[in-house]
Amino acid sequence: MERKHSSFPLPIPLSAVEGVIWPAPAGGMQAVTLAALHELEHSQHLAPEALRARQFLQAGHLVAHAARSMPFWAARFRDAGFDPQAPIDATAWARLPILTRREVQDAGAAMHCAKLPAQHGGVTTDSTSGSTGTPLTVKRSALSLFYWNVFALREATWHDIDLAGKLVAIRPDWTRPADHKGAWIKRHANWGAPIATHFPTGPAVVLDVRHSTIADHAAFIQAEAPGHLIGYGSSLEALARHCLAHGIRVPSIRSVYSQGDVLTPGGRAACREAWGVEVVDNYSAVEVGHIATQCPVHPENLHVQAESAIVELLREDGAPCAPGEVGRVVVTPLHNFAMPLIRYAIGDLAEAGGPCACGRTLPTITRVHGRERRDLLRLPDGSGVVPYYGSQALARFPEIIQHQVIQRSLTRLEFRVVARAPLDARAESELRELIAATTGHPFDVDIVYVDAIDRSSSGKFVEFRCAIDT
Ligand SMILES: [Zn+2]
Repeated sequence: MERKHSSFPLPIPLSAVEGVIWPAPAGGMQAVTLAALHELEHSQHLAPEALRARQFLQAGHLVAHAARSMPFWAARFRDAGFDPQAPIDATAWARLPILTRREVQDAGAAMHCAKLPAQHGGVTTDSTSGSTGTPLTVKRSALSLFYWNVFALREATWHDIDLAGKLVAIRPDWTRPADHKGAWIKRHANWGAPIATHFPTGPAVVLDVRHSTIADHAAFIQAEAPGHLIGYGSSLEALARHCLAHGIRVPSIRSVYSQGDVLTPGGRAACREAWGVEVVDNYSAVEVGHIATQCPVHPENLHVQAESAIVELLREDGAPCAPGEVGRVVVTPLHNFAMPLIRYAIGDLAEAGGPCACGRTLPTITRVHGRERRDLLRLPDGSGVVPYYGSQALARFPEIIQHQVIQRSLTRLEFRVVARAPLDARAESELRELIAATTGHPFDVDIVYVDAIDRSSSGKFVEFRCAIDT
């Protein structure tokens, strides 16, 4: 296939050699990361069948490891009549049952594997409640975090971000001392890992999204005049609408990244109107890494990160979705041997796209349902804040299967929970303390036990909902 000149050249990496900057002789792990990044420049143009064959080749190694090291997977393969040593093709793959989030939660430590090849590095523990309010404990190898960084760098290079500019991020900053009152702002000499460990960058400033209102965020970006702005989809939309409503202009902004939850089309339009830029969005999750990244040429398409994971969109009958159809998202991250997730239904629904005119052959998703904007949490003074109420920490309550928070008044929250057993008095009070500490206000919290939490009529799970008339 004829290749055009790249419109999105890689920035010049950091050099490991004094006096030489270009072409940069990178050193150590940086060189390894850049080599992988260059490999992705090639693989994004592979013919679909070649891409698929390489995915199955890598999946074969993951499957063999899981069968060898983990009784959970050995039994599952046996029950499905699946030979973990045989070469994988589409027919064999389709024989593997779908793994639900609830199954992963129920299996607990049986999903974790400590016996990794030595080169996969150490294992770290994280947790997530995902987009369905179902907490999971996640184990990740150093190797899977390496790939996380490679795909983060691919995203930055695809979108031709001006790395020399000033980055402003509005997100949770966990270095904030628990007793700190008021806004928490931290300044950094560069953009931080993984970007600044591979490329020269400008400075960065982070505002902790917690304990600060949307009006605070607007004043902050006006004062800081960022070139590059990063925020969560929900807070970016609220911020853009606030700027538009109050005539606030921030002409320095050249690029905006959305993280965490996927922007709605309305949120995207608000950002475009407020700042005159197309927001860059991606679809990723703690337990599976990068799933899809926005196309730099056709922003309506998210390109599946096929070298990171096998991503399937499946109809109710288990058949693959055709372009335009909405199905459940089933992901197999290819490199995390510390917690193999094979045909894992992450809990989202997404719409399949067709081939993208940009020339990249990576499959496309046009819309993700289930990770969209949440309501703002209203504080007693009437101001709106992004609803952080400690959902990331819920995995430490083993009784909780799924949860949802509904704000009933300016002082009262309803914590709806599907539980294996009711929380005891100590756990209930710990939960209330967690919510007060993370929202910054001692809300009255009603803990309400329910049998199930359904998706709304639009098919979307709502983790937080504000039910106060405003
Ligand atoms: Zn494209």
